[in-house]
Amino acid sequence: MSLDTDAARFLDAATEGLGLDDDACRMLQTPFREVTFEVPLRRDTGELTVFRGYRVQHDRARGPFKGGMRFHPDVDLDHFRALAATMTWKTALVDIPFGGAKGGVACDPSTLSAGELERLVKEVVQRLDPIIGPDLDIPAPDMGTGPAEMAWMMDAYSDVHGYSPAVVTGKPLVLGGCPGRTEATGTGVAMATERVCADIGLDVDGATVAIQGLGNVGAHAAMALHERGARIVAVSDVDGARHNPGGLPLDTLARRLREDPEAKPPPVAEVLPDAEEMDPDDLLTLDVDIVVPAAIGGVVTPEVAEALRCRVLVEAANGPTTADAHDVLCGRDVTVVPDILANAGGVTVSYLEWAGNHSRTPWTHERVMARLAEVMFAAVDETRSRAAADEVDMRTAAYRVAVERVRRAQHLRGV
Ligand code: GLU
Repeated sequence: MSLDTDAARFLDAATEGLGLDDDACRMLQTPFREVTFEVPLRRDTGELTVFRGYRVQHDRARGPFKGGMRFHPDVDLDHFRALAATMTWKTALVDIPFGGAKGGVACDPSTLSAGELERLVKEVVQRLDPIIGPDLDIPAPDMGTGPAEMAWMMDAYSDVHGYSPAVVTGKPLVLGGCPGRTEATGTGVAMATERVCADIGLDVDGATVAIQGLGNVGAHAAMALHERGARIVAVSDVDGARHNPGGLPLDTLARRLREDPEAKPPPVAEVLPDAEEMDPDDLLTLDVDIVVPAAIGGVVTPEVAEALRCRVLVEAANGPTTADAHDVLCGRDVTVVPDILANAGGVTVSYLEWAGNHSRTPWTHERVMARLAEVMFAAVDETRSRAAADEVDMRTAAYRVAVERVRRAQHLRGV
């Protein structure tokens, strides 16, 4: 089953019962625009490599298109369709004035030199120039991209259009970035987790947690949950997993993140050299209170869903649970915090960054975190109440809240 089919199934399940007509459903399912383009790159060796680039703009009824740029070898148009729609629902659920988009390049950035990456990013901006802009479509970091790539994007766009910090979010602080943007997604994950756990009578302080993926989202989620008293007992990255039922020591990770907050988080083996190794395939089904998939999509299959032993599954990644697995989970006593809620902290702080760029008003870290907490708690509370009122799971409830907002905007605009 493809990612896009899964996303469509989640939407169908949510719209059932909302009384929408077929035309409205078709509008919500169909992306506004999909662009596929070539990205030629002159390598340091003089050779030419041609990559494939994508941008899918799903909906703009509530504001400009918004969403990250993913650099990963396994992406395709189908991925970006699903991820762009996910952004539409995410921005609507946290009620920030954006639509949804997603794009990227099918490449492995770890095999490119810094110079090659810069040329690649700037080439991408050139190709996307007609369809991105501070009030049109605002890219941001996603898997394989971060503040450095956003700085190059802003530079290339500003070369043509004049200084335009608001064309991308997730920029380095000195270039109009927002304090707290780097840790926003992971911190938002912890805030949502804390709120949901309080509601089901599970104290995060002392709870055991397993986190799949220690990239930007997973690393900061680990730190923020640890600060709330949770015991992080297992973490993994592409190279392997580490485990300690008594709790992993996170001081090296904390120090590395503090030293250079805008750098890519270090590999697990480097920050936990002495911790016991475990099979990464067993991480999601560990006997812990909270499991956090924070890496790629599609990892919670029906088999994994059957085997889960946690009380709470927090979807820090985008699309970690397949539609068939979602059906399995609905029949089990596992509370699922869906991706459009759990990881919405990133785009929420992107919104603060963008608004600050437009108004030329800087934010303080303290105000950003206070605002982020307000937004995350409100979205969790709204989703929980809707789930209770409609007697549905949290994913369906979150989609219903989001879809109604988008539909209302489309309707008022006369689409
Ligand atoms: N890539 C992040 C996400 O999936 C952030 C998007 C943004 O800030 O625009 O939510």
